[in-house]
Amino acid sequence: MPLILRIALPAPVYGLFDYLPPEKASTQELQPGQRLLVPFGHTDRCGILVEVTDNTRIAPQRLRSVRAVLDDTPLMRQEHLDFLCWVAGYYHHPVGEVLLSALPLRLRKGKQPLLPRPDRVRLLDIDAQTRAHLQRRAPRQWQVVSWLASLGGSAGMGDLRRQFGAVHGVLRALQNKGLITLDTAASPLTPPQQPDFTLEEEQSRAIAAVSKGLGRYGAFLLDGVTGSGKTEVYLQLAQQVLAQGRNVLLLVPEISLTPQLVSRLEKRLPVSLAVLHSGRSDREREQAWLMAGRGQARVVLGTRSAVLAPLPDLGLVLVDEEHDSSYKQQEGFRYSARDMALVRARRAGCPVVLGSATPSLESLKNAREGRYTWLKLTRRAGKARKPGMQLLDIRNQRLQGGLSSPLLQALEDTLSRGRQAMVFLNRRGYAPVLTCYSCGWLSECPRCDARQTVHHQQRKLVCHHCGAERPLPAHCPACDSPELHPLGQGTEQLEQVLQQHFPGHPLVRIDRDATSTRGSLDQLLKLAREGQASLLVGTQMLAKGHHFPGVSLVAMVDVDGGLFGADFRAAERMAQLIIQVAGRAGRGEHPGRVLMQTRFPDHPLLQTLVNQDYAAFAREALKERERAELPPYSYQTLIRASASKAETAENFLHQSIPLIKELAGQDIQVWGPVPAPMQKRAGKFRSHLLLQSDDRQQLQQFLRAFIPALSTLPDATRVRWSVDVDPQDLY
Ligand code: ADP
Ligand code: ZN
Ligand code: ZN
Repeated sequence: MPLILRIALPAPVYGLFDYLPPEKASTQELQPGQRLLVPFGHTDRCGILVEVTDNTRIAPQRLRSVRAVLDDTPLMRQEHLDFLCWVAGYYHHPVGEVLLSALPLRLRKGKQPLLPRPDRVRLLDIDAQTRAHLQRRAPRQWQVVSWLASLGGSAGMGDLRRQFGAVHGVLRALQNKGLITLDTAASPLTPPQQPDFTLEEEQSRAIAAVSKGLGRYGAFLLDGVTGSGKTEVYLQLAQQVLAQGRNVLLLVPEISLTPQLVSRLEKRLPVSLAVLHSGRSDREREQAWLMAGRGQARVVLGTRSAVLAPLPDLGLVLVDEEHDSSYKQQEGFRYSARDMALVRARRAGCPVVLGSATPSLESLKNAREGRYTWLKLTRRAGKARKPGMQLLDIRNQRLQGGLSSPLLQALEDTLSRGRQAMVFLNRRGYAPVLTCYSCGWLSECPRCDARQTVHHQQRKLVCHHCGAERPLPAHCPACDSPELHPLGQGTEQLEQVLQQHFPGHPLVRIDRDATSTRGSLDQLLKLAREGQASLLVGTQMLAKGHHFPGVSLVAMVDVDGGLFGADFRAAERMAQLIIQVAGRAGRGEHPGRVLMQTRFPDHPLLQTLVNQDYAAFAREALKERERAELPPYSYQTLIRASASKAETAENFLHQSIPLIKELAGQDIQVWGPVPAPMQKRAGKFRSHLLLQSDDRQQLQQFLRAFIPALSTLPDATRVRWSVDVDPQDLY
């Protein structure tokens, strides 16, 4: 039997593809993790070799040969391949798509990896003859060589460039002559800075608990109130792990929102850092990914997809703001980076620390049941104290631009004392809907079951679900009346109202619209941080992990929208958002105050958060989930189908019911098919089928048979369907 290559290809197929080796390659050359160019249909595709074996179920005459081996050395190590295959299996997603999507874009297309960007030059041995030759014939090369020699034979690229300017050609010439080498393994650049404060006792205890467990798997929940110094805990643990020669993976929800984090890490962790997130160019990301894979970057800092990046000798995994919903990919390959961080740590045999001031109910349950070690930071670090929270009942109140008089008064007080105030409203745009006073017309999106939002500055109506937009009409599209009026309020309007009320006070607005150009967010955050802006207005972008020491008042204009969401996770999300927003108040020396406008001051969620805390809310919420047998007390998988006709999507899911009856045991409950809560979206009609079980293994076992069979259903090719294991949103 000849050798058979099992190859992952980017195709919506669950298994691997079998090929014969290329005609010329010797078998030693073939190693899992290499990319191969293979014929696929009428084209060639880039795939990844997963396994070399000697058996196949394909008839020998149908096997085709690989065209070429693209990598001399594998791009992915065996353990990394195994991890990604496991992930694909757990999410029941085609393994080829998972493996290829873990690669940077150029590599996915079969291009050669970028050469590592060197950061040090090292002088090699030079004989007298060469020396004399350089001196006479190549003065510039000689200058560089003698400068390097004067520094003991090696220098950083930065220093070299400062000394000589552009030296690319010179270095290449020297390299070709074998006189220098360019190193990429960044040696310690500067000694690490230590903090100028001493650790709080709770911080020390948390650090001690994790460091006792280094070198083996263990999950820790770092449940620390906002401003308790969780980042310091991460930093000191990372230092310990790096000192032991192992590497660190740090996941954060959104890097662009915390630009200080990178510089903080660089100061404190004296190793090279690979930063992986979508705000960087493809080439930058590829460099970072390659550095991580080669073990040159000792710390990988990244958003969601960084959990899939290669990183040998993993010694610690950190997940900051573990409750954040951006850890869940909501389209295509729907995975949870938080959950996979745990899997990765277990496979690597190292601790994983999940940090949050508002842990997810999933993690709290695990901590309560002892699967995670529960580390608590109950007090703010340093001089900062917990802010007081207060509800403002706005029933029967006259509002000015959505703001009640007590709220305006509090803003006035804060500003007149020279402090900063943050005004929070989780709705961007000018108003969520435009309406006609004559006929009642509403600005419905033509493609979704949703309204288009009024954007005043851009003079547009925009759908926040599908992006469909049109110019702001001057007359009603239905009855031609000029009586068109915005209904409700968004941040754009709030900005206008506040500027009218407090004209002398510089204001920055932070939301997706105000920060769409590159670099604008950094600038706005800087104004906020350094106190030049006294009024900060924005959406949840303002809530995420920022440290604005001058903010003493946080005002939430409307918390009611989130109180009655249809999704069973709505309350959890809302509680987390409120506590995170409130957590921006009083982080410096001055005490903070939090005001929330509501028409439901007796709502239990608000009462619990104001009079008790997030932990009390979470205890209640967990009890409710348990009673209702909802996650985390059960496990769900959502099958979504969409088509241009509602019946088509629904029919497809109906066709799967007999299949479920045949394959599932008693332990799988089936809900649906039902229309999705937002049935029409971007012109497609969507239908849902929810599967639930209190036994994760059983559900997984069932899915293994069920999901591949779905593609054999009569209507499978007439709909788009997808699988969402552990769905976070049921909309
Ligand atoms: P968290 O992530 O828990 O909200 P951070 O890690 O951002 O909090 O810390 C908040 C602030 O407190 C930071 O400016 C940090 O430098 C500071 N800090 C952390 N630990 C201490 C400490 N032990 N003493 C004084 N200040 C501290
Ligand atoms: Zn009208
Ligand atoms: Zn739309």
